[in-house]
Amino acid sequence: MTNTALPPAHDVVIMGGGLAGLTLALQLKQRFDDIDVLVLERRSHPVPHAAHKVGESSVEIGAHYFDTVLGLKPHMQQEQLRKFGFRFFFSEGRRDIDQVTEIGASRYLSVPSYQIDRGIFENYLAEEAARRGVRFVDNAMVRSIDLAEAGSELHTLRWSQDGVECDARSRWVVDACGRAGLLKRKLDLAQPNAHECHAVWFRINDRITLDHWSDNAEWRERCEPQARWLSTNHLVGAGYWVWLIPLASGSHSVGIVADPRLHPLATMDTFDKAMDWFAEFQPRLFDELDGKRELLQDFMFFKKFSYGCKQVFSGNRWALTGEAGLFLDPFYSPGSDFIAMGNTYITDLIAHDRAGHALTARAQLYDQIYHSFYESTLALYQDQYGLFGDPEVLPVKVIWDYTYYWGVLSQIFFQDRLTDLRVLGSLKDELQHCQQLNIAVQGFFREWSAMSRKRNPAVMLDQAALPWFAELNRSLNDRLDDDAFRQRIRDAVSQLRQLAGEIVARAAEDHPELGSGALGPLLAQAAPGATVGRAGDPMLFATTPALA
Ligand SMILES: Cc1cc2nc3c(=O)[nH]c(=O)nc-3n(C[C@H](O)[C@H](O)[C@H](O)COP(=O)(O)OP(=O)(O)OC[C@H]3O[C@@H](n4cnc5c(N)ncnc54)[C@H](O)[C@@H]3O)c2cc1C
Repeated sequence: MTNTALPPAHDVVIMGGGLAGLTLALQLKQRFDDIDVLVLERRSHPVPHAAHKVGESSVEIGAHYFDTVLGLKPHMQQEQLRKFGFRFFFSEGRRDIDQVTEIGASRYLSVPSYQIDRGIFENYLAEEAARRGVRFVDNAMVRSIDLAEAGSELHTLRWSQDGVECDARSRWVVDACGRAGLLKRKLDLAQPNAHECHAVWFRINDRITLDHWSDNAEWRERCEPQARWLSTNHLVGAGYWVWLIPLASGSHSVGIVADPRLHPLATMDTFDKAMDWFAEFQPRLFDELDGKRELLQDFMFFKKFSYGCKQVFSGNRWALTGEAGLFLDPFYSPGSDFIAMGNTYITDLIAHDRAGHALTARAQLYDQIYHSFYESTLALYQDQYGLFGDPEVLPVKVIWDYTYYWGVLSQIFFQDRLTDLRVLGSLKDELQHCQQLNIAVQGFFREWSAMSRKRNPAVMLDQAALPWFAELNRSLNDRLDDDAFRQRIRDAVSQLRQLAGEIVARAAEDHPELGSGALGPLLAQAAPGATVGRAGDPMLFATTPALA
């Protein structure tokens, strides 16, 4: 007798139980108590601590998603490390870290972010998902998917566990398989981008306490005591940056991210080669690691890590989240941010579906908005690695990039307006203007850096000492009604325009021949939504001795 029973039917099957898949499962369960979510994860749990996956530093959007949106604050505060912001040292070829330009904050800013041990986190997320009623199956490999055409048909999947084949049906399927990209391959959604950088990384089973790299009392005291090691430390040079990220398990994550035109992958694609590379380019880090070689826990690399995706959300009840969709660049750790935003869109689409609403137009709009965030964020990285070793231009770029990130994208996420098409529609001109300004400013940085003298004085650009910058970070905690939110974005437009004007003027002091390039016409036109008022107080150069 043949068994004709239909396979089990679920509301949502999430293929891949890594960071994106497990957090989506939690978000769905939080929104709908009665939803039936199945997560299929290829690896066996528990996974190892420390040397599990890359992607350990979070920034404000991702951190807010984990601690507040998903309600994981106790875990983040007790089991992970609070990050002491980002920090940059122009330390190429140098051992005297106290004699080079440093960018960072001297004290914690208001909104927390975390250094995340991915093994600890994914074990916790899987347990928490199961506690909240998600069906999490590890050691489960998705083999094939058949997408239903439309209407009320269910998608079907085949997966296997310990050699046993299983089938499932589901109203929604979400690809959270990371770079395996199951749906991307099936639907031919891959979309390469022109950001050609590579990364190598490894974990060392020890702390790298950068605070001990100098005895200089003035250098030690200009920051919160013994806290620098908790930052995501970037050791920068032309064409590359090195990350140092501490993990709660006691290990330290180290990576090199580089533009192959300046630092080919073949010069760093084994641990020994990476060490030789450190000896030449970041010798103080080489000294630190040389005595710890036997503590190496793993070594990995990606030849080209950045890519786009033609479509990530569909009204036909499928979606891609995390690296199954797209990935930008780790310089400012946006990976978790894009997971937070993608998962929020998917949760909202599923909510509309459950309410019986049509999905196609909404899914298309969410897809467009998500891609516009990807495009504008890509501009921060693409073709910019050449200026990473420039102590005159990179500090200004970092302030600009964060003003854009906290002033626009973070406001949209923190103020819960990501899916508010009415409010976002009313700010279309302002958002487009910010995007255009950003692209023009990034081009201007390249031109400025081609001429700059790259002076590298022993100063710290202390972001906590810029009152407006610290306030921008704090303002993410405000709760705004629609009018106040619109005004917040318009204020960000004014702030970005003023900052862009100051940047052009400062560069012209040293290089009158530079001009304002593509920024000129943008700054000459009236700001969308602007109310006429007095120019703001000087933001950067006049108030920051480190940039004088
Ligand atoms: C060099 C580099 C540095 C980065 N640094 C940062 C950073 O500092 N901060 C940050 O936020 N982001 C960072 N990222 C991005 C970060 O790694 C990703 O955002 C994050 O890991 C993506 O999570 P994910 O769940 O999409 O993929 P993953 O965590 O890879 O999860 C995918 C899961 O799918 C499972 N799977 C695969 N195939 C199947 C199958 N057929 N069936 C079932 N399961 C399957 C896998 O086992 C895996 O667990 C970095 C990325 C790179 C490349």
